[in-house]
Amino acid sequence: MLEATLELDHRLELDRIAQSILASRPVLAFTGAGISTESGIPDFRGPNGLWKRTPPTGFRDFLSDPEVRARYWERRRERYPELVEKMPNVGHQALSELVRVQMIQTVITQNIDGLHQRAGLSPDRVIELHGSSHQIRCLECRRLYPSDAQEIDFSARVPDCPSCGGILKEATISFGEPLIEEDIRQALRMAEESRMVLVVGSSLTVNPASRVPLVAARNGATLAIINNEETPLDRYAEHIVRAPAGASLSYLTRQVLAGA
Ligand code: NAD
Repeated sequence: MLEATLELDHRLELDRIAQSILASRPVLAFTGAGISTESGIPDFRGPNGLWKRTPPTGFRDFLSDPEVRARYWERRRERYPELVEKMPNVGHQALSELVRVQMIQTVITQNIDGLHQRAGLSPDRVIELHGSSHQIRCLECRRLYPSDAQEIDFSARVPDCPSCGGILKEATISFGEPLIEEDIRQALRMAEESRMVLVVGSSLTVNPASRVPLVAARNGATLAIINNEETPLDRYAEHIVRAPAGASLSYLTRQVLAGA
């Protein structure tokens, strides 16, 4: 069993997190790229992170340079079919189960892969702070299209918005691009009201997303962090588990269900 790979110290700390969840439910979950590495999607800053291989496109360059847009679309044509093949892992499934039994209220994610929804979470239980790879947005008229929209000419080197002729881009937040205001406002409001936040698989270095657990902790919420590496918010955390997300979440969920 995957959980057997966890060290005793990790299991003991996860037992304490389970008790905190039972005492504070429903809690908020905040996830990052680390929850999806076990599904075969590399993170940005972990040891095998994408950051080191392909620097991401900056929003300003995307807007100002047609060549940057062409390279962006070329990369999307290569990578999107691979992303669609990826399946949720035990970590995504465990979080969905905790939402189903009302131990977790909402999953606020920085991920753009849609795997929380594919693991069964209803869209109204997920806030995708950095958007979704499964949608395309027009930067001018703001219209959102599904990734397979028939009306978009995906064979064009740089497709245009079929509605207004504007610039199209994956509906994800690039570096330097503002977040969707309603999403971050709602996430911060939930953080202020929450009694506990469970962070999974995030370096907690991307702003303003990482303000979500920070605001909660500063407001007196219990902070629990499951992540392979140290994070800048560790000093606010009551519980820290440096172990793989999948095994940790599946053990944690079993303990919560046993105590419910
Ligand atoms: P990050 O890459 O900055 O940090 C990921 C953290 O997870 C690292 O500290 C790493 O050590 C840890 N980690 C990796 N695998 C783990 C595992 N199996 N168990 C436990 N911990 C593990 O990711 P971030 O904080 O989400 O910020 C990066 C940005 O990159 C986000 O904005 C996100 O939109 C984007 N991104 C998303 C995806 C995705 O959707 N799957 C993938 C790459 C990058």
